[in-house]
Amino acid sequence: MYLVKTPEIVQSLWPHFLWRVPTQEPILYLTFDDGPIPQVTPQVLNALREFDAKATFFCVGENVRRHPDIYQRILSEGHTTGNHTYNHLNGWKTKTLDYLKNVRRCAHLVRSRLFRPPYGRLSPCQRAFLERQYTIVLWDVLSGDFDQNVNAQQCLENILNNASSGSIIVLHDNLKTAEKVQFVLPELLRYFTQRGYRFEGLPAVG
Ligand SMILES: [Zn+2]
Repeated sequence: MYLVKTPEIVQSLWPHFLWRVPTQEPILYLTFDDGPIPQVTPQVLNALREFDAKATFFCVGENVRRHPDIYQRILSEGHTTGNHTYNHLNGWKTKTLDYLKNVRRCAHLVRSRLFRPPYGRLSPCQRAFLERQYTIVLWDVLSGDFDQNVNAQQCLENILNNASSGSIIVLHDNLKTAEKVQFVLPELLRYFTQRGYRFEGLPAVG
């Protein structure tokens, strides 16, 4: 069970997470979790480039280690990156010290002040440690691309119906979502570009 749109009340109850960027300007923040992998990430980068759109990639450390060339391409094309742990750990099932070590292992490869916990799951203790060092980024709109019961068209509509200025939108560059994302991404880029929106990466330094 999950919500496509994170309700304002939830966002205000957990102010230590970044849910959206406070702006009135027509800017959207696409985020791609779990890559980089050769089967998906290059196509995502191609689509973004076609619309001159920037995004943020929350990378799994072991994928960065396996595919450093794709990671470099992400950076060289002007996107930003964030830490998504080294092994895609679930915070609720991992001891705090092990979790923090895994984040640090990823940090050797992904130099960023942005962190997104896999599954959005962190214990209060893990959060307390990580927020000293990172901006912990959750989301305003969850596309549902990972959900087998949501087809590509519904996934697209989830985004079109719920995104607005400053929204942080979650998509994935992993094998499970590849097909959907290849349909959804160009469609949403076209839709919002035609309506005057632009796409930016979340600032990863400073
Ligand atoms: Zn993930």
